Amino acid sequence: MKNIKVIAFDADDTLWVNEPYFRLAEKQFYELMADYLPKNSPPSALFQAQIKNLPLYGYGIKSFILSMIEAGIAITDKTIPLTAIIEMLNIGKEMLEAPLELIDGIAEVLEALQGKYRLVMATKGDLLDQERKLEKSGLANYFHHIEIMSEKKRPNYKKLIQHLDIPPNEFLMIGNSLKSDVLPVLELGGHAFHVPFHTTWEYERVETTIVEERFRSLENVGEILDFL
Ligand SMILES: [Mg+2]
Repeated sequence: MKNIKVIAFDADDTLWVNEPYFRLAEKQFYELMADYLPKNSPPSALFQAQIKNLPLYGYGIKSFILSMIEAGIAITDKTIPLTAIIEMLNIGKEMLEAPLELIDGIAEVLEALQGKYRLVMATKGDLLDQERKLEKSGLANYFHHIEIMSEKKRPNYKKLIQHLDIPPNEFLMIGNSLKSDVLPVLELGGHAFHVPFHTTWEYERVETTIVEERFRSLENVGEILDFL
């Protein structure tokens, strides 16, 4: 831990609340499609469309909107009413315009670390939406560098660490996803803190136990300062 020079923070559900807006939108989508689905059918059409579209559309709300429409077309066997498509567009716009809610205690953590470490925001998702959220958050000034990546896999982190011009063991990543924020960074020889959020997207969930000196599992963002 003594080596750490740069601390990168994930954004969604690490700096600010994100996943609950997607959960709400999914609920609205399935309510909209209720007449076309057998009662108690597993809600999977939307998730399948999202995963299938990831390589083409990437992450974020705009891709989610397109996946809602595609799933809606499949669920209704191409008979989706125009009003349902309009409603899906509205669901997406409401997500894009949702108020920004910071994760409890995160501003205090950034305040305490500022000046002692180079702070970076490293997130995936839609460029415009993430820029807008960063602006709304009021946190932009804490960060020395902002990286909005199309994916958070090993090659993406490798590029980021090279860009920061440090060896991997001077890099610490903090985030709520073991899959996207922790595992690829540990594989590269960096440090990682996992700060879980109460809701995790199905796609980001992994079952794994990490035993590694460069890894810490925390209860909340406040604990970050206990280790630095
Ligand atoms: Mg996240």
